Amino acid sequence: MRGIRVLSAVAACAVLANTLLACAQEPERSVSKPSSAAPSTSSPAPKPKPTTPAFDRAAHSIDDPQSIWVVSNKRRALKPVDFAPSDLAMPEGVENEFAQPLRAPAAAAVVQLIRGAEQAGLKVRIISAYRDYATQVTLYDRYVERDGKQQADTYSARPGHSEHQTGLAVDLDDFGDCYLAACFGQTPAGAWIAAHAAEYGFVIRYPEGKQGVTGFMPEPWHLRYVGPELAAEMKRTGVTTLEEFFGLPAAPDYATP
Ligand SMILES: [Zn+2]
Repeated sequence: MRGIRVLSAVAACAVLANTLLACAQEPERSVSKPSSAAPSTSSPAPKPKPTTPAFDRAAHSIDDPQSIWVVSNKRRALKPVDFAPSDLAMPEGVENEFAQPLRAPAAAAVVQLIRGAEQAGLKVRIISAYRDYATQVTLYDRYVERDGKQQADTYSARPGHSEHQTGLAVDLDDFGDCYLAACFGQTPAGAWIAAHAAEYGFVIRYPEGKQGVTGFMPEPWHLRYVGPELAAEMKRTGVTTLEEFFGLPAAPDYATP
């Protein structure tokens, strides 16, 4: 059984249908009427400026593999394909099934997320985090040998295309029966994660109903660190995929069969 777990743990790994409402706020408008003493010739008052600056979609690169906003999918290989992050760190004080590290900001954030879940009475652990290029080569080749390329592509990312290789993706579990399974989204832990991930800078990378965009079935256990600013903006706008947020082409499959 362990073998099956390990195999499934390397699925390319993304929940719940987006329940967020885009609650665009009406900018405050000045409703003060011109004073009766002021004739109609008076110039109108300047419009009030929005209180929050517009979100800067170019604040970080989506191409640089070192960027916390890098977009990696079946149509966007990491460049270079054997990229390895330089700031890997072990998340401290949390259960981590295979003792895999994450990039430092993601490691710190996932520790906070797991503590937040704990405070809500939910036990959450890490089951997969950073995997290097060589590991992905070995795994992918093994799957191709076993199931054929077409089948392997449905559950395992090709080397250089796995978000886990960025050190920004982490798979979580609640020690329950929905280990790397779609039903994780319906567990209390899965639901809590869907509701609160953004507060810690994570998004559910492969949401329900977006397979044609992301190329992957829903993976409610697979979180991607993008930082709290982008996570909050995606939540605010109700845009659930990085591809759609950044106006990138859908990546339902690899360009080469
Ligand atoms: Zn994953």
